[in-house]
Amino acid sequence: MADQNLMEKIVSLAKRRGFVFPGSEIYGGLAGIYDFGPRGVELLNNIKKVWWSANVYERDNYYGLDSGMFKNPRVWEASGHTSGFSDPMAECKKCNTRIRVDKVLESVGATADEKMSEDEINELFDAHRAEIACAKCDAHDFSRARKFNLLVKSNLGDFTSEGNEAVYLPGEACQGIYLDYKNIVDSMQPKIPFGVAQIGKAFRNEISPRNFLFRTREFEQADTQLFIKPNENKEAYEQMKKDRWNWYLSLGIKEENLRFKQHENLVFYAKDAWDIEYKFPWGFDEVEGIHDRTDYDLSQHMKFSNANLHYTDPETGEKYIPWILETSMGMGRAFLAVLVDAYHEDELGGETRVLLRLSPKIAPVKAMVSPLLKNKPELVAKAREVRAELKRVHPAIAWDDNGNIGKRYRRQDEIGTPFCVTIDFDTLGETPELKDTVTLRHRDTGAQERLTIAEVAERIRSAIE
Ligand code: ATP
Repeated sequence: MADQNLMEKIVSLAKRRGFVFPGSEIYGGLAGIYDFGPRGVELLNNIKKVWWSANVYERDNYYGLDSGMFKNPRVWEASGHTSGFSDPMAECKKCNTRIRVDKVLESVGATADEKMSEDEINELFDAHRAEIACAKCDAHDFSRARKFNLLVKSNLGDFTSEGNEAVYLPGEACQGIYLDYKNIVDSMQPKIPFGVAQIGKAFRNEISPRNFLFRTREFEQADTQLFIKPNENKEAYEQMKKDRWNWYLSLGIKEENLRFKQHENLVFYAKDAWDIEYKFPWGFDEVEGIHDRTDYDLSQHMKFSNANLHYTDPETGEKYIPWILETSMGMGRAFLAVLVDAYHEDELGGETRVLLRLSPKIAPVKAMVSPLLKNKPELVAKAREVRAELKRVHPAIAWDDNGNIGKRYRRQDEIGTPFCVTIDFDTLGETPELKDTVTLRHRDTGAQERLTIAEVAERIRSAIE
């Protein structure tokens, strides 16, 4: 399967089956914005639940947070976003396509570092211009690169009056954790090391949104910040890398499609930085960053806010600014990795079929119940009863009585539903020894077995646990 083709198939399936829709579609869309449909929101919420469990519930020293998106404009000065959060952009002089100069330089083996000035980037760009062609029209004629700030501006309150400055939508979600660090220390009295976990929205004025959910202008980040004692970073950082790697495996993602990549150019304050990359149809690309950030973030906020963000050790009385180890995952990128990993085509009963081999734990629908024939009220009534019973195991039990049974199974295969349950005349007692048994059909193999309703409930329960 050509990979470009694979991506098109996934985008098409995502729309056809209610996972992801282009934003504002009836108005012609809005670049870089997507909506999660009825099945997408279930899958997304399930991924979030697994993330929250692993990062909050299964740990004793992590706290959850949901901070407000708008922040005092000073926050983005302290974090360096108003001055330094920019991508170098150039335009093809022939067809006006915009490119991210750092990314195209990377593709020809050159690194444009975040600290470089516009002149330095242009020097590097000039040295490689001959190797860089426009992806759209193949021309080699680009404008000079200029730095383009990614923060999205907005207004709050009476923005017409003079002196009322603009506020920004969050360029990254994690700033809320730094701002509430002191409140968490005061209200929860945690002992260091402790962590804070948050899933929050981020907005970036991306120059060229692309690759479906991979590079969008509105997205969610699932972040953890671990506050540690200065210089006690090494072991905790290695553990963090391991935990995050294993988390992707727990979603059912195949290990051969993951890899670690260490950053070559560290920002001046960072001790180490690694990305977890997934093998998307266009190649390995970043899903998550894991950063060893020293005391930079809290020190900056101390400087700009004048607040005292020192931590006092309750036993020794020692005072220090905690260092931070961070994990930051793009939720849309993780969602896309899950879809790509689960997408399969195989042959069943002499026909090609498309299926999502989603782990039952995150599948949007856990089982579909259907009566063999929809015009037989006694079958429909029994099937409704079975569905109600299975809903006690999990609420995401679908109903489908459209078309023949084969079509219903195929539809559920595309949604990634692990089980289909069919009620027929034997369920009603036509063959007395089969009374109150149903057909359980398995998504991955197409195999069918005859089980009691209680056995089916148990199968579903153990698969999703
Ligand atoms: P990139 O180099 O791809 O632009 P980044 O290194 O700037 O990403 P971070 O600022 O470290 O990304 O953000 C943490 C995570 O947020 C990334 O690993 C990614 O999963 C996600 N993310 C960043 N930008 C976007 C975007 N435009 N669309 C979707 N997810 C994003």
